[in-house]
Order: sequence, then structure tokens, then C-alpha cells
Amino acid sequence: MIELKNHSQGQWRPVSGRPAVLADPVLGTGLAHAGAADIDMAACYAWARERGGPALRALRYPQRAELLDRIARTLQRHRDKYFEISLQNSGTVKNDSAVDVDGALYTLGHYARLGAGLPDAHHLPDGAPEALSRDGAFASQHVLVPSRGVALLINAFNFPAWGLWEKAAPALLSGVPIVVKPATSTAWLTHEMVADVIEADILPPGALSIVCGRPEGLLDALEPLDTVSFTGSADTAAALRGHPRIARDGARLNAETDSVNSAILGPDAGEAAIGLLVRETVREMTVKSGQKCTAIRRILVPQAHYDAIGARIAEKLGRIAVGDPRDPGVRMGSLVSRTQRDAVEAGIRQLAQSCDVLFDGARRSAVQAPPDSACVAPVLFGTRDPDGHPDVHRTEVFGPVATLIPYRDAAHALDLARRGMGSLVASVYAEDPGFLAEAAARLAESHGRVHLVSPEVAESHTGHGNAMPQSSHGGPGRAGGGEELGGARALRLYHRLSAIQGWTGALARMAPA
Ligand code: NAP
Repeated sequence: MIELKNHSQGQWRPVSGRPAVLADPVLGTGLAHAGAADIDMAACYAWARERGGPALRALRYPQRAELLDRIARTLQRHRDKYFEISLQNSGTVKNDSAVDVDGALYTLGHYARLGAGLPDAHHLPDGAPEALSRDGAFASQHVLVPSRGVALLINAFNFPAWGLWEKAAPALLSGVPIVVKPATSTAWLTHEMVADVIEADILPPGALSIVCGRPEGLLDALEPLDTVSFTGSADTAAALRGHPRIARDGARLNAETDSVNSAILGPDAGEAAIGLLVRETVREMTVKSGQKCTAIRRILVPQAHYDAIGARIAEKLGRIAVGDPRDPGVRMGSLVSRTQRDAVEAGIRQLAQSCDVLFDGARRSAVQAPPDSACVAPVLFGTRDPDGHPDVHRTEVFGPVATLIPYRDAAHALDLARRGMGSLVASVYAEDPGFLAEAAARLAESHGRVHLVSPEVAESHTGHGNAMPQSSHGGPGRAGGGEELGGARALRLYHRLSAIQGWTGALARMAPA
């Protein structure tokens, strides 16, 4: 079994404490073990702050962008190995592993290019100076300076590659050292990528550390000027928010959490828009076996289309072979672990109490998978009474599960979407650009991203569930209230904003050359 050593204070340190075993979710075989009980987190963070931070901040933005480019090229060379690890540890077919691995490479490449165009400077101006005195001599200039704390990156199990680099790229570009804590069940891929980057000797000592498992003091050892970037469940986010380092001392927390995302068919939609909604729903339910925080969980359609659209989605789901990702005929692999399988099956039982079952793939057996594998087939629920069943608006079953919901009119549809109480994304399918624009304006208040799909972009849109580095990723309320990506906006989390007030001549000296 592979030992996932921890990299702290510039050295690889052995697994310690009672190790957690990472397993193949289909075959059940043990793959690797992890544990960090003996890691001194205070020393790990101090090393990162005192060694990694100054070395990174000595560089300017374009120089750090160059480091990202070298990281991307290093990872690219090991791409096949990462696909093999994904297959074994996440149970994903090649297309689904690509969402994670190639998504990571694309995001790194994007930030490398973006950083190359940033000022050749050590800090960034935020807006233009504004006069504070009548004679104009005394003014205010906002600046963003890199945080001198450490960034602790805590990730969820579903994106061991993309989840790491979508956080790490903006942090490193900002000049902030990172300590990575991957989700234990799929930590192998994250660990391998970090090990490859350390081996390639790209970053200064202390810029990149990794701890696998649950070390003591992960949060206790943080300081008030540190940052935690978290992705995971709303329950864990709530626990982190209540931790004294965050609740009392003011360490910054960005949280990306659960979300009951919607896809909405316009009230006057024709066949083209209906076809696009059906295709996207099936894709979202089955890519990575529905284990995407952005996946479609609720499908809102006009009442008159409810039966026909339910039948069309069911027919397409019925053609998807589920099973061992090693079998070339399989289109959808397994969930990441048997624990997740049990959680998803419990969620299915819960929704079954208030919904009709429109499609249940469990009636067919999984291809080449043992009976106790973590494979779960897609389930499409439906409810004719969405107002009377609050469960469908708040239950995120983190697997290939969605609910079809009929609505009376456009206002009803948009109100139902809002009952997710803050979501990462809603997508809208219609031919009418007027409706698309109106829906977007209404949905934006409760959704971090609104994805508009019309026949003009049938082939070019990037997909309801894909978080693109150009667009911000995150959502209000239930979705955690966090913000990631969105181009240069992502750098703000790793900078501090300060208003500098003084003589315009002094302020001018702060402007990048
Ligand atoms: P999770 O159980 O909340 O775990 C997330 C991470 O937090 C893991 O690394 C976990 O470590 C760690 N963790 C758990 N409790 C902790 C504690 N008390 N102190 C410090 N760290 C702690 O979530 P998950 O099951 O991995 O992921 C699934 C959830 O993530 C879903 O609800 C999904 O919607 C959400 N998600 C959201 C996004 C987004 O961008 N909004 C993206 C992906 C997933 P261990 O693995 O060691 O337990």
C-alpha cells in the first residue's frame, strides 16, 4: 500500500497515528494510507509564513505566473498517471477523470496567462485615487497587498485535482504560501500532484506543504491573519465558522458548500430548448456519477411538459451503462467510496418518501462490478406538488439523483429556484432572449452563476456544471457565501485591502510602473 507522507517544514514526514485507508470504491481493495497525528501544525504554518511567504513575495506577479506555468507543464507530463489514480481511487471513467485532471491543468494555465499580464509589481492598485481635500493634494488610494499569513486549503473528495489547483493557483499567484489538506478518501491524487511539483523543485521552500488525514491543531494553530479556503459540506463549514481562530480571532474563511441547483425550461420553450435541457440534465446527473457540487438537482419545467420531459430523460438515462470504469462499455463509474454509496442510498430513500420515482436504474445490475461496489445507478424523481414538499428544495443527494418539478408560470419557476436558499448555479433553457435576460436578472440574487442556454450556443456553451476560471464560482446562503475564480477576482481572497490616505505625490510612488 502506498504511504501518503506529509510534507511539512520542507521535509517528507511519515504517516503517523491510526492510519486511514484509501480504497478502490469498486473492488474494495486498499490502495494507500494516510495519517498526520505527529505533524506539528504550528511549526508547519510558521515555516510556511517565515520561509515560503517572503520568498514568494519577493517575486512580482508575472514572475509568480511563470511558476504556475512550470507547474502546469510538470503536471501535464504526468497526466496519464493521474488518470490511472483517478480510476483506481475515485472509480471514474476517463471522461469523468478529465473533468478533474484536465480541469486542473486548464485552470492553472488560465492563471499563468492572466498573471503574465498583471502589473510587474508587488501589490495591486484597487481603483483610482479619490480626492479627500478641496485643493486635491490629500487623496485616498485603495491598494491590495498580498496577505502575509498562510493559506490552508481544505478540499472535498470529489475534485482531488481541480479542487487543489483552482485554489492553489490564485494563492500562489498572490504570493501566499499554501498548506494543502485534501479529503482523506481521495487524497492520493492530490498527494501525487504535490509530490511531483515538489520533486520538480519549482517553488521556493515553504511555499507548498501537504498534510493528509486529520492532524491535531489544523485550525488551532492558525493565526488571525491566515486564510482558510474550504470546500465541502455545509455542516463542516458551520463547524469551521464556529472555530475560535475564525469566529473570535478573525482568520479569513471562504466556504464553498452544498447546493440544490436548478435547471429551468422557459415557459414558451420549443423543441430546440427542450432538447438542450434534456441533454444537459442527463449529462449533469451522470458526469462523475453526479458528485459535483454544481450538478443539476432540480429540473423545473412548465406543467404541460412534465410527463413528456420525464419520459425523455428516463429514456436517455436507461441507455447509460453503470459499473466498473475499467470496462470499456461503461459510461458511468462508481461513487468515490462505500460510505458515499450509503449516504446517497439514504438520500434516495428520503426523497422517495415525498416524490414519485420516474426512473430507477437500480433495476439493472452494474457492469462487471461486485455487488458491494460503490456503484449507484441514476434515479429521477418527480413531484407534482413542489410547494408542499420542501425536502426537494433542501436535500442535496450527492450522486446521480435529480427531481423533476412542474411549475405554473415563470414567476412560480423563479420562486421555486430561490427555495434552494442560495445556490451555486441555475441554468435556463429558452429560445427567447428576452426571457433569458429577465430570468438571469431575477436569479442572480440567489445564485452565484446563471448559465443561459439557447439554440445559438447549443454547441459552444461550457456546461451547466463546469466551473470556468473566467467566471466566479460560489453562491450565497446555503451554498456557503464564498467566491472563487472569476479571473483576477480570485486574488482578492489572498490579498488585504487597505485605503492609503496621503499627499498625491506620495500615492503616485505606489502606482505600478
Ligand atoms: P466534508 O465531509 O465537509 O469534507 C470536506 C473537507 O473537510 C475534507 O477535507 C474533510 O476531511 C475536511 N473536514 C471535515 N471535517 C473537518 C473538521 N472538523 N476540521 C477540519 N477539516 C474537516 O465534505 P465532502 O464529503 O468531502 O464533500 C462533499 C460535499 O462537498 C458536498 O456536500 C458538496 O456539495 C460539497 N462540495 C462543494 C463544492 C463547491 O465548490 N461549492 C465543491 C465540491 C463539493 P476528511 O476527508 O479527512 O474528513
